[in-house]
Amino acid sequence: MSNQDQFIDEGYIKYNINWINEVLPIAVPNQLMHWRDKMHELKQIGHYADINIGYGNISVKTTKGFLISGTQTGDVYPIQPEHFTLVTDYDIEANSVTCKGEIKASSESMTHAAVYEADEAINAIIHIHNQKLWEKLMDNVPTTKKEVPYGTPEMANEIFRLFKETAVQQEKIIVMAGHDEGIISFGKDLEEAGEILLNFLAKFN
Ligand SMILES: [Zn+2]
Repeated sequence: MSNQDQFIDEGYIKYNINWINEVLPIAVPNQLMHWRDKMHELKQIGHYADINIGYGNISVKTTKGFLISGTQTGDVYPIQPEHFTLVTDYDIEANSVTCKGEIKASSESMTHAAVYEADEAINAIIHIHNQKLWEKLMDNVPTTKKEVPYGTPEMANEIFRLFKETAVQQEKIIVMAGHDEGIISFGKDLEEAGEILLNFLAKFN
C-alpha cells in the first residue's frame, strides 16, 4: 500500500511524501528507543499541547536507510517500535522523502538526510527544541541562517554549507536560527549525539 500526498508540517512548506504503509522491515534498536525516551523525559522531544504539534525527533542510520521517529509522536511515552519509520530514499531538490513503516516521516527528515549525506561517519542524529539553549548557543556554535526554515531544501543546502565552512564536524551541534528552539546534535552513534546535548543541558539549562 502506497500513499503519495502532501501536507504542511510545522506550518512551513509542502513537501512530498511517498509513504509505504507496512510493518517496519527492520528491528528498531533498543538504544534508539532509550535515547528518544530520555530526551522526552527531559522535555527536549515532546508535544506543544496548546497548538497540538509534536516537536523534536531522533534517527539512526541503518544498512537500509535511516530509522526516524514518525510525525506527531511527540506525546507518546514510552515510545514503541511502530512509532518509527524507515526513510529509504529522498530527493532534496524535489523536496521528497520515501518512507516505509506504519507512520509517516515528517518534513524534518530531509534535514536528517542532509546531515547523513554531509558526513558518512555520522550514524545518529537528535533534534530537540529548547528555547534557552537555542538562544545561548546561537552564533556560538555552527548556526544556519535565520531566513532558512526547517524541513526545506534550503535547509539541507544550509547544512552542506556548514560542513564546508565551519567546524561543525568537530562540534557536532547545529543551531537552526530559522527554526524556533531548534537544535541538532549528531555523532558516530546515539551515545555521542546524546552526550553532546546532555553536556550543554547541564551547562546552560
Ligand atoms: Zn523542530
